[in-house]
Amino acid sequence: MIYDLIVIGAGSGGVRAARIASVHGAKVAMIENNKFGGTCVNVGCVPKKFFYYLSQINKDIANYKSYGCKISDPQINWRKFIQKKDKEITRLNTIYENILNNNKIKIIKGSAKFIGSKKILVGKKILQAKKFIIATGGKPKKTDFLEGNKHVNTSDDIFSLKKLPKRMTIEGGGYIAIEFAYIFANLGISINLIYRGKRILKTFDEDIVDFLIKNNPNNKIKIHFEKTITEVNKLKKEYVVRLDDKKIIKTDYVLSATGRIANTKNLGLEKTKVQINDNHSIKVNRHFQTHEKNIYAVGDVIDYVNLTPVAIRQGHFLADKLFNNKKMIEYDFTNIPTAVFTSPQIGTVGLTLEMAKKNKIDAYELTTSFKSMKKTFLTKDKDTFYKLVISKKDKTILGIHIISDDAAELIQLLAVNVVARNTLDDFKKTVAVHPTSSEEIITI
Ligand code: FAD
Repeated sequence: MIYDLIVIGAGSGGVRAARIASVHGAKVAMIENNKFGGTCVNVGCVPKKFFYYLSQINKDIANYKSYGCKISDPQINWRKFIQKKDKEITRLNTIYENILNNNKIKIIKGSAKFIGSKKILVGKKILQAKKFIIATGGKPKKTDFLEGNKHVNTSDDIFSLKKLPKRMTIEGGGYIAIEFAYIFANLGISINLIYRGKRILKTFDEDIVDFLIKNNPNNKIKIHFEKTITEVNKLKKEYVVRLDDKKIIKTDYVLSATGRIANTKNLGLEKTKVQINDNHSIKVNRHFQTHEKNIYAVGDVIDYVNLTPVAIRQGHFLADKLFNNKKMIEYDFTNIPTAVFTSPQIGTVGLTLEMAKKNKIDAYELTTSFKSMKKTFLTKDKDTFYKLVISKKDKTILGIHIISDDAAELIQLLAVNVVARNTLDDFKKTVAVHPTSSEEIITI
């Protein structure tokens, strides 16, 4: 049998592409060598968000105490929490499998390897298709010093952490490292964050990142800028981390979150004309087509913007294009909103002033910062900062950068303004909702 489409990888992008292709009448097979749902469901967004929710417990209780409530300190049952998280993920795995089954997609468990441009090998089976979508995602990579070091964990390992340590050392400066630093610091763990650069979250607005750094949960996070880890050894029950300046940090857990690498090894791509970049991601054109014209790729494996909704929309767009291009939705892949689940959270969409300048766009920014009403009795410190980047030419909103306890929820809707090219006047025309924090962005 020759399938119309074989999708490799049942993660965010692959499952969406397979389902939409099947809805359009294509005969589809899905190859998956691990759990259904991919990174997001198993070792990414979903378990991370549960970790984040739990991490807010001390902060929330402190706030209620400031309202005069008497609450005893919480006892976290970490083992029970991990069991509950695992149970929910198993439920989601089944939902993903059911999506495939209900859409009559043939599921084949195993690793796919190309043996030609229209043939793959899965175990001992040869499968043929007219078209292929590679949606194999990525996996954590450790820095060269730490590669192969069994005392060093990655984000894949942390989701099955057996018990909460007292001290944690985290290497990295991207959103995954920073989210874990804030999650565990809020749970009372002392964090040493080691970052090789001068600026964490380097693609984010600088004022927003500075604001985050100032909001250091009980000063539990110590950032070591321009440092790398050169060695990690176990000494009795603790780990000894050595930095490149010879400094020694003693810790109970080491997490390396220094980036991810596309899953292209062992895919047999050398048997096709598919080309890969230096970082192992697959080269595609703007319609997600590789150099082999019947082979396409979406999601983290192409290393464009590595987020679940991006992989989903790429998969959806591609399935529409290949099997029913009359129904195609044109997505805006330039203004992609994103959140960082620190506390406060960061939400961002569109250009920073720095990016506008680089693109020779004449722009200015408006900002406001304040303490949210909820924390009136708790603190004098500001916990919210909003910034709009506006075009000087016609007042179009080019970017929105916010940091607040609910920034992730806010930025989803604020992003519509950037995608729709609304102007500052549209903001001003809109009547505020009072008393809220978000009214401050309307009246900025
Ligand atoms: P994946 O979801 O990785 O799916 C790839 C699938 O292919 C996997 O199931 C894999 O087993 C399978 N596979 C690989 N090779 C083969 C093979 N040879 N044969 C068969 N199957 C194969 N994104 C957000 O939007 N929001 C977040 O808050 C967020 N948080 C994250 C937190 C962490 C810790 C991490 C690691 C990621 C996070 N992401 C987040 C990113 C998000 O998880 C990814 O962008 C998304 O999962 C990519 O989807 P994908 O379909 O490209 O690949």
